[in-house]
Amino acid sequence: MSLLSVRNLVIDYPRTRALDGADLTLQPGESLGLVGESGSGKSTLGSAVGRLLPTTARRTDGEVLVAGEPVFELPAARLRHLRRKHLGFVFQDPIASLDPTMRVGAQLRLVLGRGGDVGFHLARVRLDDPRVPRAYPHQLSGGMAQRVAIAMAMATSPELLVADEPTAALDSQVREEVSNVVFSLAAEAGTGILWLSHDLPAVARRCDRVAVMYGGRVVESGPAREVLGDL
Ligand code: ADP
Ligand code: ADP
Repeated sequence: MSLLSVRNLVIDYPRTRALDGADLTLQPGESLGLVGESGSGKSTLGSAVGRLLPTTARRTDGEVLVAGEPVFELPAARLRHLRRKHLGFVFQDPIASLDPTMRVGAQLRLVLGRGGDVGFHLARVRLDDPRVPRAYPHQLSGGMAQRVAIAMAMATSPELLVADEPTAALDSQVREEVSNVVFSLAAEAGTGILWLSHDLPAVARRCDRVAVMYGGRVVESGPAREVLGDL
């Protein structure tokens, strides 16, 4: 069974059709780069995977299956369970996925539950500085905050990580380090990755497959080297 299956998905905002019959599949453990110009629908598709769309968005047609579960049909409790058990999300702005009022260690402990080892999970994203658990998110650099967000998203070893341009706001050296952390953690945990990006060379280097969006549809997909060539 596919880990993710998006079929003929149509999503409308009040004045815009953001997805116009998008189709996509992703197999367990696979990394899929989702590329396309700004406005082509990448973020809308990524958010739809967890039914995390803005309240003004409406699904007009189609479906999204995660591990066979139809996310738009699930009752609230089942959806919460699916998100917790199967899905992780990281976004361009790490602060958006962190609680600004809680110290890093405390919010990571909340995700890990009793017996969770905060130090271990921070070390996995290469945040060894002992001051990090006591810091508030805004006291960290962008790269450090993004690593914390990644540690939180990967803490439960989800089957699928949706990463919406998580390195776009970082400078190039930090970008490489943060990408390395994501791809190595995912490989270790067998986590599939849906990696939304403008950075075609990075996608070509890191992802197994690539899907190209245009006008709210996936217009081409296949092995990264075939779709993008040697960039
Ligand atoms: P991306 O980096 O994915 O291209 P944008 O910069 O286009 O994202 O959008 C940033 C935020 O603004 C997103 O949360 C998106 O949902 C929202 N947004 C984008 N386009 C519109 C729009 N036409 N009206 C209202 N909000 C929008
Ligand atoms: P991408 O991530 O590829 O930049 P988006 O999914 O952000 O694409 O946007 C797809 C289309 O939906 C664009 O026309 C964008 O302006 C529109 N859009 C995105 N978010 C919103 C929003 N919150 N409200 C209204 N329109 C939006």
